[in-house]
Amino acid sequence: MADRLVADETEMAALGAELADALAAPAVIFLEGPLGAGKTTLARAFLRGLGHTGAVRSPTYTLVESYPFDRFDVHHLDLYRVADPDELEFLGVRDLAASEAIWLVEWAERGADRLPAPDHVIRIAFEGTGRRVAGLPDALMASG
Ligand code: ADP
Ligand code: MG
Repeated sequence: MADRLVADETEMAALGAELADALAAPAVIFLEGPLGAGKTTLARAFLRGLGHTGAVRSPTYTLVESYPFDRFDVHHLDLYRVADPDELEFLGVRDLAASEAIWLVEWAERGADRLPAPDHVIRIAFEGTGRRVAGLPDALMASG
């Protein structure tokens, strides 16, 4: 199965921009991989690719950061600190789901069935000094 070797952070930024071009709302993307794999880096590049020029904070403490664009919102979640999926009630996940949106979710397994089902599960693994990225949409699956 095709996946992509992403050598460094610059290539990861390029991949985020490609992903931004390839995806349309509504879409739910789970970003999987260990701490430091590059999930937030990819989310940041995705938002930049859509034209967001402001800060992109890791939602490690806030759990969710939402970014309004003209035609849809992007919700970036990081559920690393969630101990019980019930905590997502207080996040207003149901309200988020009501809007036309693209979701980028780190540590989705901690939200269990409180989250919408993913359209893509992108998995990032360490490989040498770079990263191996699998689960990309077909349009981005040229191997490298
Ligand atoms: P996560 O959100 O998965 O915990 P972060 O994106 O916060 O990870 O951090 C990833 C780290 O790895 C950053 O220091 C970033 O510069 C680096 N990095 C990201 N992508 C790559 C890559 N393809 N190759 C090497 N280093 C990368
Ligand atoms: Mg992160």
